[in-house]
Amino acid sequence: MSLARTEEFIREVEQYSARNYNPLPVVIKKGEGVWVFDIEGNRYLDMLSAYSAVNQGHRHPKIIQALISQAEKITLTSRAFHNETMGPFLKKLCEIAGYEKALPMNTGAEAVETAIKTARKWGQLKKGVPENQGEIIVCENNFHGRTVTIISFSSEEQYRFGFGPFTPGFVTVPFGDAAALEAAIGPNTVAVLAEPIQGEGGVLVPPDGYLARMRELTRKHNVLMMLDEIQTGLGRTGKLFAYEHEGAKPDVLILGKALGGGVYPVSAVLASGEVLGVFAPGDHGSTFGGNPLGAAVGIAALEVLLEEDLPGRANELGRYFTAGLEDINSPYVREIRGKGLLIGVEIKKEYGSARPFCERLMAEGLLCKETHEQTIRFAPPLVITKEDIDWALERIRKVLGA
Ligand SMILES: *Cc1c(COP(=O)(O)O)cnc(C)c1O
Repeated sequence: MSLARTEEFIREVEQYSARNYNPLPVVIKKGEGVWVFDIEGNRYLDMLSAYSAVNQGHRHPKIIQALISQAEKITLTSRAFHNETMGPFLKKLCEIAGYEKALPMNTGAEAVETAIKTARKWGQLKKGVPENQGEIIVCENNFHGRTVTIISFSSEEQYRFGFGPFTPGFVTVPFGDAAALEAAIGPNTVAVLAEPIQGEGGVLVPPDGYLARMRELTRKHNVLMMLDEIQTGLGRTGKLFAYEHEGAKPDVLILGKALGGGVYPVSAVLASGEVLGVFAPGDHGSTFGGNPLGAAVGIAALEVLLEEDLPGRANELGRYFTAGLEDINSPYVREIRGKGLLIGVEIKKEYGSARPFCERLMAEGLLCKETHEQTIRFAPPLVITKEDIDWALERIRKVLGA
């Protein structure tokens, strides 16, 4: 097998692209379901799902059909005019998630920014926090995106280095520590913003009861609970939303990634009419947010999730996959953790970083990405079958077995 084309392609990318990523040396040409194919003709099982944006599988026929049908009618109107697709999309999203209103954006970071603006304005108008004094409590080791405001409250030095000055108004507490959270709440606290499971942070699952306690505390102190379910939401952890594991429905729910079915960037902020009611025309916007193409794709993406019971699959197959990984009894592994089909396998420090393991898994036909140096994330599309998992486990055993 000649790798000449792959090397040529990578050289070209390295010449013309800013080097803000360090991808594995594979050039993907086609995808279908859980499988992707490179330009050399190799097939791989996708264990990353574009960071959980492809929960419905690559090029799901129903989602692709929705894209094509809508593209033949109208793709973009801007919010200066109405389009006939946005309303049905937001209605479906609100009904499924159990919220009164949704504000559509495109990327995850934009939705997080929108949630931050929502909380600040809510704090000022509804809670009576003085102008420009609202504080938002965030968690150590968080990942909420890459804008300047969002990295302002990152605890990851590399995400911040060189990018200041930063946005003030954030207070950081340890993730999973409800007592620290309560201690940090003050008169000017408008919201708590957290991930139910920290995906980029290394698939970190907080102690049982943490989200339920967060729900109690935020209610007691009149603070908005805002959950970033961009990665954990829409079936990934074995429930439609990860907060359901503890019945801790947030005031503000932030969605993205799989909301666009792996096809188109679609994100949204959901909340009550009172909370999202703080926005008046002209306060906030997005040229592409709520566009007909994204809305049509979003409807199909939600329908596929429900029709194929992808949360149920993630629950059942997540247990099966995790049990199989535990069975390998790998001498290299310090811990296996996660929920549903969001699984982190942490490599012991004495065996180096997770990256070489990902490279060896790639040679076996599995595309995985390390997260936070030591952890391999296994997060396949939720349409994966038991047979696919058996196929994967056989190969993982080769790499991680004794
Ligand atoms: C990916 C991600 C984001 C950012 O989404 P983008 O679409 O890359 O801007 C925010 N929060 C979480 C939890 C994510 O996983």
